[in-house]
Amino acid sequence: MKLENISIVLVGTTHPGNIGAAARAMHNMCFNRLVLVDPQCAVGEVAYARASGANAVLDDRQTFTGLAQAIADCGCVIATSARRRSLAWPELSPEAMSQKLVDMGGSSRVALVFGREHSGLTNEELQLCNYMLSIPANPEFSSLNLASAVQIVCYEIYRRQAIRPAAAVPDAQDLPASSAETEGYFAQLQQVLESNGFVNPEQPGLVMQRLRRLYLRSEPTRNEINILRGMLSAIERQRD
Ligand code: SAH
Repeated sequence: MKLENISIVLVGTTHPGNIGAAARAMHNMCFNRLVLVDPQCAVGEVAYARASGANAVLDDRQTFTGLAQAIADCGCVIATSARRRSLAWPELSPEAMSQKLVDMGGSSRVALVFGREHSGLTNEELQLCNYMLSIPANPEFSSLNLASAVQIVCYEIYRRQAIRPAAAVPDAQDLPASSAETEGYFAQLQQVLESNGFVNPEQPGLVMQRLRRLYLRSEPTRNEINILRGMLSAIERQRD
């Protein structure tokens, strides 16, 4: 596992203090890739004060307008959420998450995604992710402060990598497909299913969401995404 391959992605954060405190939590645990998506505040004096010296993490941050762009090059994307969703998403406990990252052996980029202070992540954002992670907490009061959630997740990974040797690195074709590659497949799949009438674009229902969940859960490799896209292209050629 390589910590420099792991991004901490904060979506729509409204309080600069939380961004600074998250940077501090990251630096305490040796993480340095901070990514902001559509931040709702400036990263200025307040954020730097709360970072308490973890200035480099803030200085080196990347900023994107949407989550899809921010995670495009990631082979494994893990959303964090305090609440269950209507369409249940594959869940990882903190322990299972850190074990998974050890098993992946640092071979591809990983994103850990954190939501807005008031409303968390939208369902659309969650559906870009392979897994959802909830930190076990008081069922009556389960929503942690954003930076506290970042701290716990980073600590769990730090602790695990300190006690486990790294796994062997697999061949490039056997690496997980990136989010951008998987999204390219979903776009082509939707086109084919709409053009053959399986999905009605006026009333799509939950079919695409369920298919997304199925494919994301299986963490397809680049090779597998190429096969799936090749299959769809053959269908499209025959149709045309
Ligand atoms: N009211 C929001 C909670 C937002 S807390 C909601 O209903 O979703 C801000 C962010 O901190 C969350 O989006 C999530 O990324 C993280 N977080 C807070 N508590 C968490 C928990 N128990 N498990 C996992 N992530 C949590």
